[in-house]
Amino acid sequence: MNEKDMGTDLEKVLISKEEIDLKLAELAAEIDRDYAGKDLLIVGVLKGAVMVMADLARALSSDVTMDWMAVSSYGAGTKSSGVVRILKDLDTDIAGRDVLIVEDIIDSGLTLSWLLSNLSSRGPASLRVCTLLRKPEAAKVDIDVTYIGFDIPNEFVVGYGLDYAEKYRNLPFVGTLAPHVYGG
Ligand code: 5GP
Ligand code: MG
Ligand code: MG
Repeated sequence: MNEKDMGTDLEKVLISKEEIDLKLAELAAEIDRDYAGKDLLIVGVLKGAVMVMADLARALSSDVTMDWMAVSSYGAGTKSSGVVRILKDLDTDIAGRDVLIVEDIIDSGLTLSWLLSNLSSRGPASLRVCTLLRKPEAAKVDIDVTYIGFDIPNEFVVGYGLDYAEKYRNLPFVGTLAPHVYGG
């Protein structure tokens, strides 16, 4: 799907496919360096992180293993509550493993901070976070995010894994929606 196929739903492209590719190549080079000689497990948080995982994993030179978790944040509306339920747990025992969580976006940071405490209780050798996007709220929360793609403005974005009502995940870029899509 390209920009044209989105018709009038799209307001603007915030980050192009080319910018995403370049950034993931940079992050992959850092990760390759940082985990040289280690047996890294990358953990994608479904569904949003599917695209980042697929492209980041292929940009890495090192062999990694990949696993997935699906979580759902309780709470009405669009805000995360911080109360999280595991819909799909890891298949891997991460005790003693070097683990890197791969996220699409960090907004309030509540989901991620729950995930970090849950996974760290399983005794990994190390636990770090890589996210493609980070919003301003998250920068205020005290979570250590080692690898950050882009700091973006406080706007609702879609594409490259991110949805609005389960749509737009397959856009190859990150963009914002026109107000009429929200019923505006
Ligand atoms: P947090 O717990 O950090 O507030 O929420 C993170 C989750 O909220 C993301 O994994 C994503 O599912 C959703 N989210 C936060 N901001 C956006 C956004 O701008 N667009 C979309 N599509 N989802 C978002
Ligand atoms: Mg996510
Ligand atoms: Mg969503």
